[in-house]
Amino acid sequence: MQRREFLHKSALAGAALAAGSQFTLAGAQELPLQGKKALFVWGGWMGHEPDKTRDIFVPWMRQMGAHVTVSDSLDAYTDAELMASLDFIVQIWTMGKIEGAQEKALLKAVKEDKVGLAGWHGGLCDSFRNNTEYQFMTGGQWVAHPGGVIDYDVNIVDHIDPVTAGLNDFHMKSEQYYMHVDPNVKVMATTTFTGEHADWIEGCVMPVVWKKYYGNGRVFYTSLGHVAADFDVPESLTIMERGILWAAESKYAEKEAWIQAVYKDHG
Ligand SMILES: [Zn+2]
Repeated sequence: MQRREFLHKSALAGAALAAGSQFTLAGAQELPLQGKKALFVWGGWMGHEPDKTRDIFVPWMRQMGAHVTVSDSLDAYTDAELMASLDFIVQIWTMGKIEGAQEKALLKAVKEDKVGLAGWHGGLCDSFRNNTEYQFMTGGQWVAHPGGVIDYDVNIVDHIDPVTAGLNDFHMKSEQYYMHVDPNVKVMATTTFTGEHADWIEGCVMPVVWKKYYGNGRVFYTSLGHVAADFDVPESLTIMERGILWAAESKYAEKEAWIQAVYKDHG
């Protein structure tokens, strides 16, 4: 626990550096999530340890100044008063079923009301397999993790974006997510498949960390976080925390412009 607290502090320092004058650690006049209202929704398949990861991120969000409502029910999305009060949502909910009214309220919050959304692994991008509009929002859907828990590297491809600035490539022993990814996302880290467990994907470069918009609402995702111990890897924890900080500014920050995916014209 002590180690993770140290990591939390390192991540904050990184975020402070990355964001320039916006956050000041030394003076601590204002915490990065001061005054922000958040909803943390956890549940679904317990193999992804939504309870343990809740206990990593909820205390940290509170420590950063956020007022956090924690819910183990998707019905939180239909609480109109709560939803209207929110700045951002963090969801860890794998392989579940979302009802029509719940989904509609969540989509509207992000798309129309600019509520930020952040999550990781299957908790955001393998949540509701039948819900294509939900997947349109998140920007990806898990389809395979060839070989199960394996050794692989994560490569930082964006050294300027505050989420990954200052980080080096790092190693994971976990599930290497093979995903169907929306081309209209900003990718900050990738991983390359070896082909050892599925020979036809050898050399495939797959996004690991991205940000995007759904309407005008910010959406942040990292495919790392199969189990809570994945956040013992300092870079993995830092990326998720900085992603939450980015999503939390959804209602207040200017919409970012970035180069979108392009395909070569071979004609
Ligand atoms: Zn997993």
